[in-house]
Amino acid sequence: MDETQTIRIERRKAYREIKSKLQDEWRDKIFSRDQYQCRVCGSKERLQLAHITTVRAFLLAAKAAGEKIEDPEKLEEVMRKAYREDNLVTLCEKCHKAYHGGAVYTEKLRNLLEKKRQMQEHPVIKEYLTLCKEIDKEFTKVHGDAYARSSAVEKLFREIKKKKRLEFRKSYRLATYRQARHEIPS
Ligand SMILES: [Zn+2]
Repeated sequence: MDETQTIRIERRKAYREIKSKLQDEWRDKIFSRDQYQCRVCGSKERLQLAHITTVRAFLLAAKAAGEKIEDPEKLEEVMRKAYREDNLVTLCEKCHKAYHGGAVYTEKLRNLLEKKRQMQEHPVIKEYLTLCKEIDKEFTKVHGDAYARSSAVEKLFREIKKKKRLEFRKSYRLATYRQARHEIPS
């Protein structure tokens, strides 16, 4: 396992722990405010604590603002912003899924996605996907090299031009000097 993978797993673990803590803090408060029923369909089954603006949206905004959310304390501070009375609502599982676009996962789509997932496990497809990644990486590298080379060439040209201009000026100055001394007829 490489380092970034370990960091990612630890970050996910921290996220889950903070989430479960915050859910415990807020669940009963909100459920009781909403009389233990889904605010959309009134169902009393499979109730969930739902966010109007998602935790993810708060995290993305914090990340974009350059906040260090890889620090667990900062992570909790940002996640807490999503947990407040006016951003929390009681929804049943179905309405919650529908709210976050989960409703687009029809049976057919789920089956197709599952098929895709299974295909990705096939050795040949795995090899193909790895190859694609390698090609992408190489392209990025070559592109970077080409960019470095072309700017080096441009720099060289600039230097040659500068040198030539200086030489031209030097010979021009020499010529005018000689003319002034009548060494060369004008
Ligand atoms: Zn509902």
